[in-house]
Amino acid sequence: MWPLLLLWDMGLSGIIIEVLIGLIGLDLFFRVWRRKIYYVKVHDFSKGHSWCSVSDVELAVHCSVCEHVLLGGGMRCDSCGVCADEGCMRRADKRLKCKQVSIDAISMKHQWVKGNLPPESTCHVCEEDCDTERHFSDFRCCWCQWTVHEKCLPNLADLCNLGIYRNFIIPPNCITLRRSPRGRLRSQCLVASIKEPQWGPQWKPLIVIGNGKSGSNEACHILSSARKVLNAVQAIDLSDQEPKIALQLCALLKETQCRLLIAGGDGTIAWVLNAVQNLDVKNLPEMAVLPLGTGNDLSRALGWGPHIDGAVDFRSILKKIENSSSTLLDRWLVELRPSRHLGIRFPSRSVRFNNYFSIGVDARVALNFHLTRQSPMYLFSHRLFNKLIYFTYGTKDVVEQSCEGLEHQIQLFIDDKQIELPSVQAIVFLNVDSWGAGIKPWNMGQDGVFMPKCLFGDGIMEVIGISSSFHIAQMQVGMSEPLRIGRGKHFRLRLFGKQPVQADGEPWEQGDSEIIIESCGQVPVLTVS
Ligand SMILES: [Zn+2]
Ligand SMILES: [Zn+2]
Ligand SMILES: [Zn+2]
Ligand SMILES: [Zn+2]
Repeated sequence: MWPLLLLWDMGLSGIIIEVLIGLIGLDLFFRVWRRKIYYVKVHDFSKGHSWCSVSDVELAVHCSVCEHVLLGGGMRCDSCGVCADEGCMRRADKRLKCKQVSIDAISMKHQWVKGNLPPESTCHVCEEDCDTERHFSDFRCCWCQWTVHEKCLPNLADLCNLGIYRNFIIPPNCITLRRSPRGRLRSQCLVASIKEPQWGPQWKPLIVIGNGKSGSNEACHILSSARKVLNAVQAIDLSDQEPKIALQLCALLKETQCRLLIAGGDGTIAWVLNAVQNLDVKNLPEMAVLPLGTGNDLSRALGWGPHIDGAVDFRSILKKIENSSSTLLDRWLVELRPSRHLGIRFPSRSVRFNNYFSIGVDARVALNFHLTRQSPMYLFSHRLFNKLIYFTYGTKDVVEQSCEGLEHQIQLFIDDKQIELPSVQAIVFLNVDSWGAGIKPWNMGQDGVFMPKCLFGDGIMEVIGISSSFHIAQMQVGMSEPLRIGRGKHFRLRLFGKQPVQADGEPWEQGDSEIIIESCGQVPVLTVS
């Protein structure tokens, strides 16, 4: 009998030990998971240049290796500016040092690149014109961007102060890198730490974020110009790393407030802002916008304009950022609680937004557009073509009148008070006073009339009604005003039946549910007037 007991005993203790090991393992896993650190990837510039094809055909560009003029093409490093013809590229990679992301030195020295100076360069020593075209001569420092005659170079001190944009730049002697653990990423390094230079509070490094693989090449061009002026580590391509990883640079600079320049549309901004709100830093980074997409309502509201050409001079953007002022942008949380269906309640979900949330016909247009873009027939991604499709769907819905009688399918409570709804086909909750690619609905046609303004940082949202998609078209040309429903801090909706909804242009179909909209904090933004 007792051997049986022993066996049972061993089995039981085995199970207990296994369970214990399992629990310890689980605990360890959660500890590691909670402490998971993301590393910013960066191209290892000691392994060669970041080549792009030479685009400025009007200039005589010389190969930095053989010094011949590049005829019909050639490559330029967008980081340091070294140029090469196809035959000399490998030699340039070996012989000519690129702008280093990280250097092991206490003080920074100029890094001179010979020839191919920007037009109208003058010498920093004698202030005379440099030879920018005819000969392969004179030098430019790829950090401070100073230009200098070959003959004047010995008269210049060695130390580089990073020039007039130093407050935007993370100096390479402040960055420590580590090798990427994965063998296949040998040309890549990870940023291990960043130490702050003692330059005072005006040092706010700029991180430029864009999706290099988005439809047009504009974001790619912006990232390329950012690499030229800043440290290459500060240009983050979202097609390569996620926003939460990109923002790890801000997390590494715990005490210093960073600035973000987001080159993209409202969608890219929303994606980055979600990550910004989860950052564990003393001061959240301040965000500036370079509007590249369609819509760009946030960019319009913050004063960055409706659209910018990707070929814009990057230094003019830096000047604009320098002259901008910092303020706070409200962010809102929509909680969607589906009603019980056949005795089953589906889990609720939540979405954050910062421009607007709407139900009805405008969301229908966005949803149809979204579904078209997902179809295999959709081969184009040009902005004008997108606008054309958007317009076609808008007019199609004028005929279909798809959200008629919306007021009977919705109960709206603003700050716990039920609102009597007029006859509407859409209800829009506005955080910023720009909607539907540039309409300013709340203050429209109210010149001289006293009315509280729609402000993006006052913790209040304005609610408007739209009677049809034809009404949207009328508002677009300033012929009609929206139905002003109310304003408040807390919103509750009962939705009966299925309706299209959208938050910051992201549309979906929402069934029977209760919808709660509340403030979920603020993020710093830079505005220009
Ligand atoms: Zn050559
Ligand atoms: Zn280079
Ligand atoms: Zn320099
Ligand atoms: Zn000179």
